[in-house]
Amino acid sequence: MGLIDKIFEAGVVGAGGAGFPTHLKYDCKTEYLIINGAECEPLLQTDKFLMRTFPEEIITALKEVAYILGVEKIFFALKEKYKREILALQRVVTETKANIEFFLMDSFYPAGDEQILVYEITGRTVPEGGIPLQVGAVVTNVGTLYNVYQALQDKVIIEKYVSVLGEVKKPRIVKVPIGTLITECIRAAGESVLEDYAVIIGGPMMGKKLTEKKEIEKAVISKTDGAVIVLPKDHYVIQRSQQEIEHIKSQAKAACIQCRSCTELCPRFLIGHHLEPHRIMRALVYSESVEIFKLAQLCCECGVCELYACPMGLSPRRVNSYLKNKIAEKYDGGRGDYSSHLMREYRKIPTERQVSRLNLAKYEHQLLEEKIDIRVMEVKIPLDQHIGVPAELVVKEGQIVKKGDLIGKAVNNALSANIHASLSGVVVSANQKEVIISKSSGGVL
Ligand code: SF4
Ligand code: SF4
Repeated sequence: MGLIDKIFEAGVVGAGGAGFPTHLKYDCKTEYLIINGAECEPLLQTDKFLMRTFPEEIITALKEVAYILGVEKIFFALKEKYKREILALQRVVTETKANIEFFLMDSFYPAGDEQILVYEITGRTVPEGGIPLQVGAVVTNVGTLYNVYQALQDKVIIEKYVSVLGEVKKPRIVKVPIGTLITECIRAAGESVLEDYAVIIGGPMMGKKLTEKKEIEKAVISKTDGAVIVLPKDHYVIQRSQQEIEHIKSQAKAACIQCRSCTELCPRFLIGHHLEPHRIMRALVYSESVEIFKLAQLCCECGVCELYACPMGLSPRRVNSYLKNKIAEKYDGGRGDYSSHLMREYRKIPTERQVSRLNLAKYEHQLLEEKIDIRVMEVKIPLDQHIGVPAELVVKEGQIVKKGDLIGKAVNNALSANIHASLSGVVVSANQKEVIISKSSGGVL
């Protein structure tokens, strides 16, 4: 079986973002292969853990992927401050005589955004609404490569390393079966020090924020989740995420002073895209122009405008997200005249300043205990862990399954990926949304 088929069978999807099915992403030829080891959101530590713990596995997978893509150049992008990770990877690169160049960056946000990485390394701007392949690049995350290595060994993707940090008693990196409850992860980290808390699944800028006990109790780890951050409910980052859109809209109308700060610091505007959030905010007040509202589709929702740039505490990101769902008409984009901003270099958001602005300094240097395997009694595995079409259910209630069995089959000729059982046991519930598998014993190893 070839690599693409192995990746397809294993159900590998992008581990660091929206979960693009990897067998489709790699089904091309390209000039550049860029490995994203920048882990750009503050506080996250899982990718760094993978790079220093599994450098052989990552470089092995990287060489195989580079071969099928037929690339001319391979760049491994990391932040310069990741000394231990760079050393670990460099050792393997030297030992195996791999032709890989390290691209070391300052610590800024969003260094790990794939369009920003492409620009930093190649000087090319990905067209508006486009993908890196259009400018000759494929960007892949270190977590994805770790999973490609599993596929090379004929293993399927049923486990995930997750950083559990913030207001927990024992911050740590745990390895959990996919479909493990978030509350089990928090328990494995010694529980929260707070009675009542909020949770971010992912990073503080772009992660999913949960505040209600019921939603926290229902949430599970999927193939794309690398962190669980526990914070007080009244934390700035949590509070900002809880505002209702109607309140945000009326606040925008009342308080936007058209200072342009949101636009001048917007990473997509700075690489030459025609996204100008201040114009969208103005249109919200004065013109209701659909043409301008369509620009919202260019927003990657990085959160710079909302959590960092706006002096009035407004939320252009939430407005853009709202407009994306509301305006059916597509932005035609692709104007081609992309010139990056002359001041771009000076407008990058330094991570240190970002962390202090977000009031996260307390958690920034938490030491995470590593590699704790947790076993669970039950998993709830969603069939839509990737973008595109959910996998097709192939098991029934009452069926006995073994770890690694196929439970959701990728839909033919569609953007879709296989899903496997992450636990041996009985299927106690199965529908087109999720499969619940239970077994009779468990506990923390
Ligand atoms: S930064 Fe805030 S106040 Fe300034 S233009 Fe943007 S939304 Fe308006
Ligand atoms: S969230 Fe704001 S800063 Fe980020 S891409 Fe969208 S408009 Fe630009």
